[in-house]
Amino acid sequence: MFQMVCMTCGQTCSDVSLVACPHDGGVLDLRYDSEAFPLQPHLPGMWRYAARLPLTDPKHIVSLGEGDTPMVQSSQLGADIDLPQLYFKNEGLNPTGSYKDRIASVGITYLRQLGRSAWAATSSGNAGASLAAYGARAGVEGYLFTLESAPRAKIAQIMSYGPQVMSVKRLGYEPAAEIATWANIAALCDANDWLMLITARSNSPQAMEGAKTIAYEICQQLDGEAPDVVYVPVGGGGLISCIWKGFKEWHAAGRISRLPRMVAVQPLGCDPITQAWQAGRPVEPIEDCGGAVSGISLTSPPDGDLVLQDLRESDGWALSIADEDTYRAQSALASREGLFVEPAAAVVWAAARADRLSGRLSGNEQVVALLTGIGFKDSKAVQRMSAEEPLPLIEADDILDIGP
Ligand SMILES: [Zn+2]
Repeated sequence: MFQMVCMTCGQTCSDVSLVACPHDGGVLDLRYDSEAFPLQPHLPGMWRYAARLPLTDPKHIVSLGEGDTPMVQSSQLGADIDLPQLYFKNEGLNPTGSYKDRIASVGITYLRQLGRSAWAATSSGNAGASLAAYGARAGVEGYLFTLESAPRAKIAQIMSYGPQVMSVKRLGYEPAAEIATWANIAALCDANDWLMLITARSNSPQAMEGAKTIAYEICQQLDGEAPDVVYVPVGGGGLISCIWKGFKEWHAAGRISRLPRMVAVQPLGCDPITQAWQAGRPVEPIEDCGGAVSGISLTSPPDGDLVLQDLRESDGWALSIADEDTYRAQSALASREGLFVEPAAAVVWAAARADRLSGRLSGNEQVVALLTGIGFKDSKAVQRMSAEEPLPLIEADDILDIGP
């Protein structure tokens, strides 16, 4: 089993259902009894790592086949920049199309384990879809509070799973609205004994454990060793922080002999973590979000300072990518690798390329770039990639004239 240890003051909390340190509000980390742990291959997908997840009984598991996503070696893009050992971990092939399914699977399982009847959350996209799908699977109610400006295509996927979806006035561009929304969702959950699920370590430490299974899988897929460098798209910061935790746990369990360097990739124009990294100071919220890349454009990243700590610990770094380079990377991944991903995922290829061209990568490293979500998620970006090209209209007989 596990204990909750505050990452700020180091105190252990006896109540494992807490979501923040009762003494100082610090982020709680789940620590398990022993460093070595058995795999449970009879459980579905990522649940074979259940010994490192907050699960008391496998009967609670809510699974749609999350995890076990493909790791594919680059066929062309790596060769273009003389980086032959470039791999893509394709999280877009999870059940709802993003890595958030790992978190929702653990979160909704944990909800059932606690005996709660509903979840509530804020999200404008992938996390909402994941929670709604796993909530539907578990037969529990869901309440999603979204942004006034949330893209309707993303909301459509969420609504299809049947939760109650409401948009909150001024949420997304007024800090006061954000603070009030989060506080009121927490109060609503307390009053009704529901579970608030936010995909940040500082809000849902138990559910976030699901994300670290990506690190375990990467090591297993690379024949039992860690890669040299891992590129991760970063918005709130919880994903990269959990993946780093996963590598450390896999290492402590004696399964790998070394640890990778972690690289946080942010969208230029909305990159408070990169700015803090470069200035050598704590993360500060930024006023205006200039970046248009949905999913990783956050003005106030909830797990930002954890990311800075992880980058230091892993001897990693942070960098930011301009939106136009991100869209170019998205097209290249589709047309040169057959990988159809959303812009928030494509930043990792743009970043690896920039680092290779600047010489930060020598070309000899084994590099894993994490593709977090599938291309269908952002329909505007899909339009940008292809729909502006005119479609030739031909007669059936014209087909015979076509050739290389
Ligand atoms: Zn504390």
